[in-house]
Amino acid sequence: AKASGRSTYCFFSPEMDRQAHARLRLENDLRHAIDRSELCLHYQPQFDARGRLVGVEALLRWPHPQRGMISPAEFIPIAEESGLIHPLGDWVLGEACRQVRQWQRQGHPEMRVAVNLSVRQLQRRGLDQTVRSELRRSGLEAAYLELEITESSMMEDPAGTMTLLHALRGIGVQLSVDDFGTGYSSLAYLKRFPLQRLKIDRSFVDGIPDDGDDIAIVEAIVAMARKMNLRIVAEGVETGAQHEMLTRLGCDEMQGYLLGRPMAAADMDALLARCRTH
Ligand code: C2E
Ligand code: CA
Ligand code: CA
Ligand code: CA
Repeated sequence: AKASGRSTYCFFSPEMDRQAHARLRLENDLRHAIDRSELCLHYQPQFDARGRLVGVEALLRWPHPQRGMISPAEFIPIAEESGLIHPLGDWVLGEACRQVRQWQRQGHPEMRVAVNLSVRQLQRRGLDQTVRSELRRSGLEAAYLELEITESSMMEDPAGTMTLLHALRGIGVQLSVDDFGTGYSSLAYLKRFPLQRLKIDRSFVDGIPDDGDDIAIVEAIVAMARKMNLRIVAEGVETGAQHEMLTRLGCDEMQGYLLGRPMAAADMDALLARCRTH
């Protein structure tokens, strides 16, 4: 770039050099961690309005030997830029399907699993084939797999998203909009995408029950979703007061620390032994 001398020097500052190295090291560590199967999935329960456990969201965890647990918010962007998101994303899909099929066999036949998809996975051809083959391999019925796609990922290439979502829906999986309300989706597109669920972003849930604007936003989302025949999930529910008001406003399902934190599969086994499912 034709930057001024000053900003050119700034580009090569030792601080940025350090950051670039740290990033490269993390990318290498991630590659090895994937090769050695060191990543794992945690599961956060989702409950319907009657308090039944209806599903789980699979969330990636990376226990790093030196740095402890690294958040997906930190390593997913690195996986996306390096292309590692593809082997990683395929593994997540397969592992989540396998685990939930096992829980179904253990007496929770209606249990569902939600898997997060990165925009990079949407952009690569053949995602529908991957989904199909992971379902076949695990024996999980398509209707019990839900794919979560953020509103902003969907809107990056709306026409391409449209084609892909129709292919995925054709397989029979459920599709949900993650972080709803934070992006800029056109309602016209939203109506034409074959969606089943909206997840109201935590930032709106945070203001419930005191913030009048957040209440109005949730009311509007619920009213719109009803018209479009979509189910509504509120995420990031942390207090009883939030739970009560969100239920009253018409949210169909709830997820959050109040009801259950993301947990290892073994801890979910224990929870399932105590919980009503359907
Ligand atoms: P997300 O999909 O919006 O997931 C919800 C995040 O909120 C999770 O953070 C979850 O642990 C956290 N959370 C759940 N309930 C509460 C609550 O009551 N209060 C608060 N403060 N937080 C709550 P996590 O696990 O750190 O994941 C962060 C993000 O990383 C996810 O956001 C998702 O975008 C991404 N991610 C996680 N796993 C995967 C994956 O397998 N593939 C892809 N592509 N992205 C993933
Ligand atoms: Ca999600
Ligand atoms: Ca979310
Ligand atoms: Ca998020």
